[in-house]
Amino acid sequence: MANENGGPEGGQTSDIDLSRPSIARVYDAVLGGKDNYEVDRVVADQVRRTMPHISDVGWFNRAVLGRAVRYLAQEAGIRQFIDLGAGLPTLENTHQVAQRYAPDARVVYVDNDPIVLAHGRALLEENERTSVVTADLREPAAVLAHQGVRRLIDFSEPVGVLLIGMLHHLHDDENPQGIVDAYLDAVPSGSHLVITAFCDTGPEARGVEETMLEFLGTGRFRTTEEITAYFKGLDLLEPGVVSLPLWRPDAPVALPLTVAQRLMAGGVARKP
Ligand code: SAM
Repeated sequence: MANENGGPEGGQTSDIDLSRPSIARVYDAVLGGKDNYEVDRVVADQVRRTMPHISDVGWFNRAVLGRAVRYLAQEAGIRQFIDLGAGLPTLENTHQVAQRYAPDARVVYVDNDPIVLAHGRALLEENERTSVVTADLREPAAVLAHQGVRRLIDFSEPVGVLLIGMLHHLHDDENPQGIVDAYLDAVPSGSHLVITAFCDTGPEARGVEETMLEFLGTGRFRTTEEITAYFKGLDLLEPGVVSLPLWRPDAPVALPLTVAQRLMAGGVARKP
């Protein structure tokens, strides 16, 4: 049921800014969630006008999160995860996937939007091995020193660093490469990095980029080469940086891919 702001019932809304759309809430609207407001749905609708299958794109991203976290927990032996730019809870959140394959896995969700803490705590902090931290990932030193992070993450053991659906929300002058490097510098050999991001694959992608920049203020689509560069110094796992449906799919994928299937790309790498 909606409240007087056209938003969801429940949750603490006192520190939530309803005058502007928020990235987390717009993404929630795109995924068909309920933790969003009219101001967010306006943006989601604008993006949908440019890219009618934008909800599918969001779900391709969630699906690859599931496949990558499953790989890290089940095959790469990762037992601790920092999910940077975690977003609002939805289906198959990181700790649910990780703890299915490794019940002792620990997950810290980091997001700078207070709504993630307000609406996410009950669902994301289901057990003593998960926590939600409100912090700005553009300040790696502060995030890495945060007691909510230190409580669950042992930096002498390999860490799964997740930057999923996140880096396109950083402008070039915010130094996304430096931010990625700072997190990877803090974790030991055997740690893994997972990145997915909007990919500049041509005019349709640039149309979505324009809409996002106009209505949300962020959304920098980068080329496959630019996304691949984030992994420099790491061992990029097969099949490299690819359109999301092609990253280790569970079932054969029909080719050629649609524009929506190519709108985001990503990969996984291991720190040597
Ligand atoms: N990782 C999830 C996924 O891929 O399904 C959610 C992605 S959502 C599109 C991006 C998230 O990054 C939002 O929840 C937003 O609040 C968060 N975010 C954006 N800028 C951030 C920052 N500077 N620090 C921390 N979180 C940030």
